[in-house]
Amino acid sequence: MSEKKCPNCSSENFVKSGIVNKRQRYKCKDCSYYFTVFKEGKKISDYYVNKALQLYLEGLTYREIERVLGVSHVSVLNWVKKYKVKRPERTNYHPSYKILNAAELANYFKDTENLKGSGAIVTELGDKFMLIKWERFKD
Ligand SMILES: [Zn+2]
Repeated sequence: MSEKKCPNCSSENFVKSGIVNKRQRYKCKDCSYYFTVFKEGKKISDYYVNKALQLYLEGLTYREIERVLGVSHVSVLNWVKKYKVKRPERTNYHPSYKILNAAELANYFKDTENLKGSGAIVTELGDKFMLIKWERFKD
């Protein structure tokens, strides 16, 4: 049982939930995700854990991270707890972000107006890129 994990949040806390197409289906008790195939490697999971914690540090809320990465906000909350990630309290500062493909990203950087007074952080996200605008001095 210890080798088997939820493909969505890596939790080992799941229960049997019916048979689908002759395969045992499970339901994750932590993120409510239904699955018939267990998580295989650690790679995909670690990738999302890293991205999620990165976004968390950038000031995104759990719900926003859920929207961006497609992993449950409960998973993100659990990872933040597990890795004891703490971020400074920010009252005024909140980054804005965009999900862009390679061509859109190239266009974005072509226009220097987009970078003036803020700059940006770009990180890979599946087959796209996430751009976080660093609007520190904006009220
Ligand atoms: Zn789960």
